[in-house]
Amino acid sequence: MDTMEKYARYVNTSFVKRVEPIVVERASGAEIVAADGRHYVDCFAGIAVVNAGHVHPRVAEAAKGQIEKLIHAASYVYYVPAVADLAELLAHITPGALTKTFFCNSGAEAVEGALRLAKIVTRKREVIALQQSFHGRTYGALSVTGNQTRKTRGGPYMPGVAFAPAPYCYRCPLNLKPDACGLACANAVEDVIRYQTSGDVAAFIVEPVLGEGGLIPLPEGYLQRVQEIIRHHNILLLVDEVQTGFGRTGKMFGVEHHPGVDPDIMMMAKGIADGFPLGAFIAPDAIADSFHPGEHLSTFGGNPVSCAAAQANIEVLRDEGLIERSATLGAYALQELHKLQERYALIGDVRGQGLMIGVELVRDRKTKEPATREATLIREMCLEGGVLIGTGGQDGNVLRIQPPLVIGQEQLAHALSVLDQAFAKCR
Ligand code: PMP
Repeated sequence: MDTMEKYARYVNTSFVKRVEPIVVERASGAEIVAADGRHYVDCFAGIAVVNAGHVHPRVAEAAKGQIEKLIHAASYVYYVPAVADLAELLAHITPGALTKTFFCNSGAEAVEGALRLAKIVTRKREVIALQQSFHGRTYGALSVTGNQTRKTRGGPYMPGVAFAPAPYCYRCPLNLKPDACGLACANAVEDVIRYQTSGDVAAFIVEPVLGEGGLIPLPEGYLQRVQEIIRHHNILLLVDEVQTGFGRTGKMFGVEHHPGVDPDIMMMAKGIADGFPLGAFIAPDAIADSFHPGEHLSTFGGNPVSCAAAQANIEVLRDEGLIERSATLGAYALQELHKLQERYALIGDVRGQGLMIGVELVRDRKTKEPATREATLIREMCLEGGVLIGTGGQDGNVLRIQPPLVIGQEQLAHALSVLDQAFAKCR
């Protein structure tokens, strides 16, 4: 049996429409090589994970070095140098007073722990999240996910969650125009607290760019306004940087696009270790120290190999100027995509920050009917043309362009030309 046949027989993939028909054998930088020898330009980075590029030599070296010394010890039972070193580095690179990190293994697990900690610290029980948000597939994380398509079956979920309107300017939930709205969606958080909760709200959880919800950056001023409102009610600000962290948006963290905003707890995963599994949440001492003994733990959390890889990854992002590169190449890609938007009516909206870019497809620019089938077709045509992109959003009609930050300008230009050809065929 070959790999695809074994998948069909033994790997549970019932939850995806299809697995892309590529057997991934190896990868380097922004290039994936399939078992049949075909090369692909990767513009999806393993769902926005390998920010420093596939198999970065320094990350691989750090991991190999650690493997030869220690693979696992239980990082909360014993002291482990790689954990200490990474935690110190995270305290330095994260904003504000964030100092102490809890390590786990995935984004969802980081969200779970952060929610629990927020409830423990505040002694309050409810949570506010955004419509269209995505925070992971475990029960707590799904409960604060404001996207019905991700939770249709398998409920009930955690009670005590209210959803505020998403700042989704292209389809404003309040039917307002971006320049004249006075950030009504941010102000609406006050009403959500008043009318949709019992006032017992522990946390407001938010992604700096709504990722799975359709690559929707938070508009300028939004987070500052929300922070004012929630501070007034002693509600903690939980910033989910799982997808936006580690240079993805052109800053080390997405929240840095919003000066004056100070997360109480920040969640990280995906790009933290260039592909090694690692999740984390960080908080100031006063919050982090609120767990009681025995209250929280994860056997694999803070795996030394993942931590060593993460440290090398963060150094690479800084030493190779990859964060600035994400900003520059992102601006270039947005500009080119706006040119495509002038030529193809199918493109309703182009948006993003750094190399976290969404292209929303619509059947009709007036009605904005989601062009879901077309988005899938375009993704498939890109794949046939040797370029990997993703699709997402509430209706699956948003193309996702989130390459490794090491992608070359020429590689990116080539990817955009393949995308252009796909649009031309889709007319
Ligand atoms: N939060 C955000 C913002 C995410 O984008 C994701 C994953 N797409 C998660 C949480 C969950 O991460 P994981 O799949 O590692 O559990």
